Amino acid sequence: MTPEAVARADELIARAEAAYLGLAIGDALGATVEFLTAREIRSRYGIHREICGGGWLRLKPGQVTDDTTMSLALGASILAGGGAVKPLSCAHAFDAWMRAKPIDIGNTVRRNLITFRGSGNPCAPPSTNDAGNGAAMRVLPVALCTLGCDEAAVRGAVRAQAHVTHHNAASDAASEFLALAVQDFVRGEPLRNVYRRRLLPLLDARPEFRYQGRRRENPSGWIVETMQAVLQALMETDGFEACLVDVTNRGGDADTTGAIAGMLAGAHYGVEAIPARWLRGLDPLVREKCRAQARALAAGAAGGATG
Ligand code: MN
Ligand code: MN
Repeated sequence: MTPEAVARADELIARAEAAYLGLAIGDALGATVEFLTAREIRSRYGIHREICGGGWLRLKPGQVTDDTTMSLALGASILAGGGAVKPLSCAHAFDAWMRAKPIDIGNTVRRNLITFRGSGNPCAPPSTNDAGNGAAMRVLPVALCTLGCDEAAVRGAVRAQAHVTHHNAASDAASEFLALAVQDFVRGEPLRNVYRRRLLPLLDARPEFRYQGRRRENPSGWIVETMQAVLQALMETDGFEACLVDVTNRGGDADTTGAIAGMLAGAHYGVEAIPARWLRGLDPLVREKCRAQARALAAGAAGGATG
């Protein structure tokens, strides 16, 4: 490789790591205020901006929830399979994750994993009701391992992992957008390009995701409200910390909006933009797993492995 190519590859890996660290940081930060309203957060914290644990899950400071641990389970199974996203491997990884008694788990995830145990079919039945954010929140390892793939292959891999638990058009549209946007940011594309190339077509195809106008507070686990809050926070702030403080202080499903916004903002602003106190505040084991997995997934993709 030329020195320029080496520098580009290093930059790509660094942004992949920042995306994964952003996911975990947003999860840990938001979990403290999950299910509070924006008003309750204001009266309790003023502005919530520290990774301090607690919340309805009574977390230790720096502890993460299902958003991060499902992503890590998925990423480990992709790496064990040589970098490919295979529906059955994803389903087995999620099932093993559920058997290990995670501290939190979404209803749709639980229901469709129990169905999988009976059927052995890693594709959940299509459902207009299964429009939760549970597939979108764990899409990052797929985005990283398909960095070298064309768009159709990326979308296919995203749906393969998503449909294990969420077989739903709105969930698919969000998950595919998130994977492609993260990839653009990891490659160093500026926000305006991602807006034009990815976000405008998404908002044309799914007008319910439009976020302009009224501030979306108390976003639920419905992917539509999750996306409105995440997109508003990403587009209307100008830094990693500002984006995560903005989105988590909206309350509602704050660990998941934090995780999704964190992966986008991490990839976009890069690792230097992550506050040192948040990096230090994250559970060290989780921090190192996120770093190692991001590096392995992105390096494998850059090396030519396909999804
Ligand atoms: Mn969670
Ligand atoms: Mn959540």
